[in-house]
Amino acid sequence: MLIKNGTLLSPGTQEQFQGDLRIQDGKITEIAVRNTSIFIRQERPNHVSHSSAPAENRKYSSTSRTLTPAESEKSISTPNAAILAENMKYSSTSLALTPAESEKSIGTPNAATLAENMKYSSTSHTLTPLEGEKVIDASGCVVAPGLIDVHVHFRDPGQTWKEDLHTGALAAAAGGFTTVVCMANTRPVVDNTALLSDLCRRAEREAVRIRFAAAVTKGLKGQELTDFEALAAAGACGFTDDGFPLLDERLAAQAMERAHRLGLPLSFHEEHPAFIEKSGAHRTAPAIAEDILVARDCMLALHTGAVINIQHISSAHSVALVRTAKALGAHVFAEATPHHFSLTEEAISTHGTYAKMNPPLRTEADRQAIIEGLRDGTIDLIATDHAPHSTAEKQTEDFFAAPSGIIGLETALALGITNLVRPGHLTLLQLLQKMTVAPARLYSFPDYGTLAPGSDADLVIFRPDEPFIAGGYRSKSENTPFTGMELYGRVRCTICRGQIAFER
Ligand SMILES: [Zn+2]
Repeated sequence: MLIKNGTLLSPGTQEQFQGDLRIQDGKITEIAVRNTSIFIRQERPNHVSHSSAPAENRKYSSTSRTLTPAESEKSISTPNAAILAENMKYSSTSLALTPAESEKSIGTPNAATLAENMKYSSTSHTLTPLEGEKVIDASGCVVAPGLIDVHVHFRDPGQTWKEDLHTGALAAAAGGFTTVVCMANTRPVVDNTALLSDLCRRAEREAVRIRFAAAVTKGLKGQELTDFEALAAAGACGFTDDGFPLLDERLAAQAMERAHRLGLPLSFHEEHPAFIEKSGAHRTAPAIAEDILVARDCMLALHTGAVINIQHISSAHSVALVRTAKALGAHVFAEATPHHFSLTEEAISTHGTYAKMNPPLRTEADRQAIIEGLRDGTIDLIATDHAPHSTAEKQTEDFFAAPSGIIGLETALALGITNLVRPGHLTLLQLLQKMTVAPARLYSFPDYGTLAPGSDADLVIFRPDEPFIAGGYRSKSENTPFTGMELYGRVRCTICRGQIAFER
């Protein structure tokens, strides 16, 4: 498969460039890099073979951070150097190249030779289709690593009228996600190896990668730890009692110690029932319920050394607590949902039960603190808490009788672009970093998040500037307040393991 003319964004290396990308046998095998001006001049094939500016190249390649559009524009004035520079930046990420080879390449002032040494960039800086090869024209599109969502509920087994592994996978692919982590609060609970093994086996049939976090306590009852070792051996990528807080401090500490020994993360749903009158609304489920547990678990993480994830952070004080814990050296990750950075409690008056979730939507000050936390790195990642419920369940007269949660996989990227990137809070690369590299780091997944030859061909192709009206979901459920809203950044195609998982 050949993806032509895309804007390639590699959050893992903080790079962006114009180019083509080839996929073979589930892997990225070739990337041809160019900028716009070089692409326009590609009819002059010898153009790139006269390059000479090693000093320039070194300068370029040492500028490792984001290339803003303005800088890209500037590089047009030295197009040959730019080609070399891009290639050199690539060399640092290529597993095929030793530093010695890189050195030699730098000493060869010839883009074609350099490209050949790199083994992945075509000499002409454009890739031509092989016979019978599928070509995807990505003109005007961003090509990025497939998104990773560490917090989804596929309701399988037990509530498959809401979602199942298959429709969940379809929704994930439609949203640009190629890896998801399912929570353990199914019916029955994923607290035993028999169920976990069965889920892992069934997940293999789906078009995206579905991983499973196992329960911390048996039946999510918060009383007796599950068999972490056996569950890890059976494929659990982490542990969580999501949906419920762990109220026993001693047990929480023991869970952290055990997970730490296994090198796996624990994810925490932080809402203390002592401070919750009724869940799902800020006024009856105030921030203190979240803050006291976040404070506790940050300190337990600091003292146990465990890697923990504060799920769906929603309160300004909790963001500050995580910031402090990180400064103290705790291995604390925090995730924010698209609804918590997009909406406030006011949404309840418009959207009713579709704005009911745990923890609840809070104040504008909380929302701003979440955005600031995303900006300064306190909040590492964006996760959807994709929580399907049937329309009948949500359309009850009694707000508090309705189940909490909304679907999120198919609007997450667009909400990030619309509410974080377009207003200037994050760059697109930073947004993608929080939806690829950071979640992969939490779970020690492979090199997801970087576009480089040899990487798994998990990709999303989307138009960041394309407006669309949210709706028409692949999920079995449609419980979300974002339906009907105009958002930007529509997913065109999702590729997982080198196969098309979704195409619009
Ligand atoms: Zn939760």
